[in-house]
Amino acid sequence: MTDPFPQTMGQQFGRRSWAEPWKIKMVEHLTVTTREEREKALTEAGFNTFLLKSDDVYIDLLTDSGTNAMSDVQWAGMMRGDEAYAGSRNFYCLEEAVQNFYGYKHIVPTHQGRGAEHLISQAVIKKGQYVPGNMYFTTTRLHQELAGGIFIDVILDEAHDPAVLHPFKGDIDLEKLEAVIATHGAENIAYVSLAGTVNMAGGQPVSMANVKALRALCDHHGIKLYLDATRMVENSFFIQEREPGYADKSVAEILKEFCSYTDGAWMSAKKDSLVNIGGWVAVNDQSLFEELRNLVVVYEGLHTYGGLAGATSKRWRSALPSR
Ligand SMILES: *Cc1c(COP(=O)(O)O)cnc(C)c1O
Repeated sequence: MTDPFPQTMGQQFGRRSWAEPWKIKMVEHLTVTTREEREKALTEAGFNTFLLKSDDVYIDLLTDSGTNAMSDVQWAGMMRGDEAYAGSRNFYCLEEAVQNFYGYKHIVPTHQGRGAEHLISQAVIKKGQYVPGNMYFTTTRLHQELAGGIFIDVILDEAHDPAVLHPFKGDIDLEKLEAVIATHGAENIAYVSLAGTVNMAGGQPVSMANVKALRALCDHHGIKLYLDATRMVENSFFIQEREPGYADKSVAEILKEFCSYTDGAWMSAKKDSLVNIGGWVAVNDQSLFEELRNLVVVYEGLHTYGGLAGATSKRWRSALPSR
C-alpha cells in the first residue's frame, strides 16, 4: 500500500530534534490519590468526568481548553494589562495581531469561543435558514440552532469512518453542498460553516484545495463562508506536512492564505492560542462588523474588552506564533 501521508513527520525539514524548544521553570503541586479515593470520587461523580473535582484528578486528560501552561512572556504581559474600560491599549495590540496573522479587517473580542459563536449566529442567521457544515462543534451548532438555523452535515463520507486513511478528512464534500443548495435554494443558506481540524472527527484537517474550491462555489451562489478558526494553526501545520506545494511555506503564511478564502471567522483562544480564557469574531464586511460590535456590548462587554481583562488580551497577544 502506498503511504497516504508521504510528507508526514517533517523529515523533509531536517528538524533537529523532537525535544521541546523551551524549559520549565515553575512547579504546581498535584494531589496524589489512592485507588480507593479515586473510586470514591468517580462513584460520587456518577462516572461523569465533568463533575469531578480537579483535586481528585492526578492526570487530567479531559481537554486542552484553557489548560495550557503560559510562557514567561505571557506572564510578564499580564502585568502590562491596561484595565481602562474603553480603548484599552491591549485591544489595539490584539486587533493588530489578529489582522496580521489571520488577515481579517475588523475584530470583536469575546470572553471565549461560544461568546463569538453567539454573536455571529445572531447576526447572520435568519430563522429557518440552513447552515451546512463539516460536522459540528457542540457549542457552534447549538448557537446556530438557537438563532433559528438548521444544521446539515456536508463533510466527506470518509470522516465518518475512523478506519479510513485520508489526509484531509475534514474537507467538505462539494457535491453534498451543491445538493443542499439545489434542494433549498441559495437564499435559504445562511452561510457555509467551515471548521479547521474537525473536533468531532477526531481532529481531521481541511485542505487548502478544499477551501479554495468552497470559495469559488460560494461566490458562484452568492453564499458567505465563515470559519471556525479555533484550531486553524494546527490545521495549517497539517497542510504544511501533507498538501503538495506547501512544505516550504511557513505555518503563518498558510494560515493567512487559508483565512483569505473566507469572509470571516470566530475562534476560541483557549486551544491554539495557549491562553486560559478568550475568543474573538472577525469579519471583513463593515456593516456586519458594526452589528457585531453593537451585540458584543449587550452580551460580553464593551467592544474593546469583550468580557476579557486587559491582562488577558495582553498575554494572549504574546502567545501568537512567530514562525
Ligand atoms: C472549544 C471550541 C469552541 C468553543 O469555544 P469555547 O472557548 O470553549 O467557548 C468552538 N469551536 C471549536 C472547534 C472548539 O474546539
